[in-house]
Amino acid sequence: MSVGEFAGFTLGPRDAGQGGPSGLWRVQLGQEWHARLRTRTEAEVAAKNQGSTRADAAFEVPLTLPCMHRGWTFKLTGRIDQLVTVFDLHTSDGGHRPDVSVVIREIKTVSGPLPADESALRTDYPDYFLQAIAYLALLRSAPRRSDSRPAPEAAADPEAILPLDLGATAGSALKAELVFVEIGTGITQSVALGADDEMSFHAQLERLAEFLDLQVRARDRLRGLQFHPAFAALRPGQETIQEDLLAAFSCGTPGTLQTIGSPESFSAPPSRRASTTVFFEAPTGYGKTGVLLEFALGRLRAGRFGRLLYLTSKSTGQLQVMRTLAAMCAPRGDAGSPQAGSAGTESVSAAERFPGPSAGGAPTPVAAWQVRPKAEHCVNSVFHCVRDACPYLADLESRWTHGGLARFYLFDNQPHDLEALRAAGRDAQLCPYEITRAALPFNDVWIGDYNYVFSPDNRGLFFDRPGFNPEQTLLVVDEAHNLPSRVADACSHVARSGDAEFVLAELHRVRAMSPLLLAWEQWTRLLAGLRHTDALDLAVEDDARDAIDRLAALVAGTPLDYAALGPGVSEILWKTLALRDWLAGDFDFASNPKLKTPNSKFQTPNSKLIVQNPELRTLNPELRTLNPELRTLNSEPRTQNSPPPVPTLLWCPRAGELRFTCLDAAALIGRTLRAFGGVILASATLQPADVFAASCGLDEATAEPARPDPIAPPAALGKLSRRSRKAMRGLTSGAELLRVEEAEESAGPRLLLAAAPWRDNAYAVGVDTRVDTTFQHRMQFYAATAATVDALQGAAQTAAGRRSSTVDGSRTAPLAERPSASVIAVFFPSYAYADNIIKALKTAGSALRVALQPRGADLAVQAAWVEDSLLQADALFLVLGSSFAESIDLLGGRVTHAMVVGPALPEVNAIQHSRMAELERTGLGRTAAFRRVYQIPGMQKVNQALGRLVRAPGQQARVLLHCRRFAEPSYATLLSGEYRHGALIRNDDELTRWLGASFPAGNL
Ligand code: SF4
Repeated sequence: MSVGEFAGFTLGPRDAGQGGPSGLWRVQLGQEWHARLRTRTEAEVAAKNQGSTRADAAFEVPLTLPCMHRGWTFKLTGRIDQLVTVFDLHTSDGGHRPDVSVVIREIKTVSGPLPADESALRTDYPDYFLQAIAYLALLRSAPRRSDSRPAPEAAADPEAILPLDLGATAGSALKAELVFVEIGTGITQSVALGADDEMSFHAQLERLAEFLDLQVRARDRLRGLQFHPAFAALRPGQETIQEDLLAAFSCGTPGTLQTIGSPESFSAPPSRRASTTVFFEAPTGYGKTGVLLEFALGRLRAGRFGRLLYLTSKSTGQLQVMRTLAAMCAPRGDAGSPQAGSAGTESVSAAERFPGPSAGGAPTPVAAWQVRPKAEHCVNSVFHCVRDACPYLADLESRWTHGGLARFYLFDNQPHDLEALRAAGRDAQLCPYEITRAALPFNDVWIGDYNYVFSPDNRGLFFDRPGFNPEQTLLVVDEAHNLPSRVADACSHVARSGDAEFVLAELHRVRAMSPLLLAWEQWTRLLAGLRHTDALDLAVEDDARDAIDRLAALVAGTPLDYAALGPGVSEILWKTLALRDWLAGDFDFASNPKLKTPNSKFQTPNSKLIVQNPELRTLNPELRTLNPELRTLNSEPRTQNSPPPVPTLLWCPRAGELRFTCLDAAALIGRTLRAFGGVILASATLQPADVFAASCGLDEATAEPARPDPIAPPAALGKLSRRSRKAMRGLTSGAELLRVEEAEESAGPRLLLAAAPWRDNAYAVGVDTRVDTTFQHRMQFYAATAATVDALQGAAQTAAGRRSSTVDGSRTAPLAERPSASVIAVFFPSYAYADNIIKALKTAGSALRVALQPRGADLAVQAAWVEDSLLQADALFLVLGSSFAESIDLLGGRVTHAMVVGPALPEVNAIQHSRMAELERTGLGRTAAFRRVYQIPGMQKVNQALGRLVRAPGQQARVLLHCRRFAEPSYATLLSGEYRHGALIRNDDELTRWLGASFPAGNL
């Protein structure tokens, strides 16, 4: 681990400062101060090279050394900022080496004012002190070349050699100091490290050892994991899915997962496996959650992965995962056992038949944690996470200890639903989010939103947890068709002149310093002067960049009373830092070490800059030999860390509003996905798979071409000439070639289509070519559309009557008993379109009761609205792409007639224009670009909406695709297979006949 990770490691919360702002600009500013201090040290060294002393300085000295504690060996790597060596030539008389003293200097930039009280610095920046003292302790205990003692076992590693040859007595001359630099002014303050700091180093080692012991316990728990299959009886199509998933991952002999607790024979070391991505397409109602959890638990137990991340954007989906896990892991004989009952529909999965406890409400043999947003954890009167505004941030370490909150990771049986966390936080007077943060490393399954992996603002919660290693993690992303747009949104920002004016007034109110006031005034003027434009003028863009650069530096370096400013204003001020990073193209990928895969072409910079006094090099070769690093490291090449290109757009959709839009997050997604050991992207609509792969950045070459390892020539060949040995260096084996081929093959994504034979013939589809719903022509057809809605509802009513009169209908009678049996669903591309059809219905004198979906409602309100409307309306008017059309599963089996009013192509605006232009720039033709930007997203919304009408065997739906475009091949081929070959309806008679026809294989 790096010394930085070592210093930053904590099991619970730590009392630290507010934490300085981070980002590329901060790194650059830090580098600037490092460079200035280097110049100062060089001058200091030159001054010492007079009279009886000689001095030398090395900068950014790389170090890898072992450190042993309680049976664990920690190999720490780091880079010492400055190593100043002073040689006292007086002591070199009589043939003895001169006395040498070495000072380790760590340079840290801080945003608070300097000079500061040393104890305050220790409280605010404990990591910095630990880092410096770690270097000192490592150097002290390291084996030395001149040391006659036997080298410790770990020193057998060639890296574990101290680069300095200081002599046997030199250990006592080692010192460490921290040099703080106030980032805004450059004022410095040096703090020498002492005995207390050394004690804190040992306390940190103790924490690490405790953590590792707990990790061993967690690994043992996983090896003995017991779980039931997700389904007691399999639905048609599920019979081979576990084997299919295993085969898709190319990882082992399939067929052992159905047995509870059976040991699995898969044992190849993870490091030999290529990262594998599987696209898993399964229809709504297939039982994806259970299937994927069963597969993932098997892989965890087999040791293939150490952790599962299950991401889904809706809290209801996350709760479903928790319930399924609880039911699958419930002990035999419990009410939660899925042995009783029957499968056949998703509603009879283990979780739903035996709902068991609420999320986190009971122990499960697999430790799982559902992560909710920080705001939902909040117990303060206002959600404003600064010390002066929140009493729950004070004195964290002692409150954590006195509150006994370590129980959340020490014991497996602690309820940890949100209410339990909030109650524990209130009791301990400590922010409940700290409990989630501390407990995550001890859980095998993390369940949460996409943001915790893909958003630059939120991913720290997962990626910064100790022990989290993406390479050993299986990542499951549910509803993955939303991933590209969700990540692009997370990487986009907006600035509004109204907000800027408000902030300016608030800055005046709290009497902020004048440089910040002036800079914010200029920013406000700039925003106020913006007019609508699809792309910002270059001169204005330059002004915006200058303004943001200045503001970001000022916000970071200016002390402000954020408690008095309040959360809204603070948020806008801090946003300037994100805007600066956005403008610099830094999306947190370049700076996040856990996203740097070993094979990535974007490697970590490995520059080793050693600068020494040139005089020493030429005039005193003896001294030079004391530091071998000086000889070798200057010549090492520097490799560049090139961030992936992310197309962006600066534009103004209206006056006074500046949008920072990420046009395509593919490169960011691809880079993130490649960091994981295994990835499953699951959805009902992933096709066309090549386009989905491209939108996830998985279509490009991911790594350096793999090379087979050479093998030694057979001994039978005897002694070979030098030339022959050279020629045979490329010799390899068939097994090696096969391994490389398999590695390359598995590096690309694979598509696994789940079989669902119960959906065959479940839809009767008609394509209504009488109307044109394009924006230019739809108005001419409003009356026809209204009449069609009326006619479809009439057909639904007739079918419901037919079903209710069926005497023997084990399947149909329950459906017909429901009052919703004749309610139809009509999907529109926009609210405006739906409004116009409601007006047309009124104009035509229709008696139809229409319920239009409410805007901006949360999931609970949406569900309640659906239930109400199914009872009270004749037609539900829903908008394609909204959560009503994509997340509400209440319509399956309850709405048998539906209509889609045109493909829901995205709105034509500056973003889509720019996306088209960007694709064309990269070589795609206009037709292909149009398909990518408009047609595929539009038809995906149609497929998503229709998929939810049939969620279980026995359900059927009659669907009218109401626009002639659905008959065009470019649209028709984008429909899912079940809806692709609908009957063409060319006139009113054909519509009447189609509506009255009996369903091919059922009761409609
Ligand atoms: S620190 Fe925690 S309790 Fe305080 S405001 Fe933030 S979320 Fe709320």
